[in-house]
Amino acid sequence: VNRPYFSDPYTTRFDARVVGRRETTEGPAVLLEPTYFYPEGGGQPFDLGWIDGIAVRKVVEEEQVVLHLLERMPERENVSCVIDAARRRDHMQQHSGQHILSAAFVREAGAATVSFHLGSSTSTIDLDREVGAEELEKAEREANRIVGEARPIRSYFVEPGEARELELRKSPEREGTLRIVEVEGFDRQACCGTHPRSSAEVGPILVRGTERVRGASRVEFVCGARALSDYSRAIARLRALTRLLGAPEDEIAEAAEKLVAEKNGLAKAFEAARAELLASRVAGWAGEAERLGATRVLVRELPEVSPAELRLAAQLFTREPDRLALLATRAEGRAHLVFARSSNLTCDVAALLRVALPAVEGRGGGNPAIAQGGGAKEEGVGEALRLAREELRLP
Ligand SMILES: [Zn+2]
Repeated sequence: VNRPYFSDPYTTRFDARVVGRRETTEGPAVLLEPTYFYPEGGGQPFDLGWIDGIAVRKVVEEEQVVLHLLERMPERENVSCVIDAARRRDHMQQHSGQHILSAAFVREAGAATVSFHLGSSTSTIDLDREVGAEELEKAEREANRIVGEARPIRSYFVEPGEARELELRKSPEREGTLRIVEVEGFDRQACCGTHPRSSAEVGPILVRGTERVRGASRVEFVCGARALSDYSRAIARLRALTRLLGAPEDEIAEAAEKLVAEKNGLAKAFEAARAELLASRVAGWAGEAERLGATRVLVRELPEVSPAELRLAAQLFTREPDRLALLATRAEGRAHLVFARSSNLTCDVAALLRVALPAVEGRGGGNPAIAQGGGAKEEGVGEALRLAREELRLP
């Protein structure tokens, strides 16, 4: 198969002959002779571009042929082709950067690369073991040293017998003739991707972070133009934060820490104030409670009380002896009920709740002294409280 991109990854404009036409489930496709379009493979995404001005949607290799999937079928036999050069260069930078970074992880951390994913914004390599911050930094520094030394990158084909003597970084997965990509004096790897002629073209290699995956490390990184735009975005975010927090760049973390601590303190104070307000409201309700023998019964819907505070309100009210609280509120389309009694009483509020819950199509439970529940039928709150009153034989 003639793949001129193996030896010349820089040509992005060329003339070709259409040597096959196919209707696929993903639309029309053509076979070209020659083709510089890279088909998806080896962790590197396919090229995009135009064939006689028609957008290429995807390029795949199937049974030794390269299929160019198009928006529509070109009419001419001799076509002019344009590869999206920025996308191709980006893929070359990320892919070659991966080779260099993977080799650096072997040298600096004894960690082998298990798999590589070239994503649309960042790329990842999965290592075979967990690496620490220091090893990450050493591998990143080593990779950038290789970039800075502008080492030649070469590719060539070898037979399987020769490959065994080459000391490849990773044993090849396929049989037969192998294409080797070599960063001079640093890395040798079987690969079918497009690589620049010098490591300098990779540009900066930046490790963005790591994640633990199955007891090993997944390393996220960006190379070349991506690293530069990533840096620009990071700087813009940092500028926005320094403006917002009114702190210089190198004190930004401390300023944010202080702000979070202040916020937590205020939240706590606010909670305490709300609890105090609730307690004074609850004290006021005592006068409004109905009498059932010696027991004061408070049956109320409390729109101003949040579901989270409803239980506290019931507990505060029933702290005094001879009290029964049947409280309800609504929030975000749901009904909430809390029934409670003083500890000197013997009635079962959980049983009372079971009588009321069907009115709000609710579920819930608790113990004889306090029970709570909720349901999706919020307009049933009044009916739920009425059913509970009826059960208590309140007028
Ligand atoms: Zn590769």
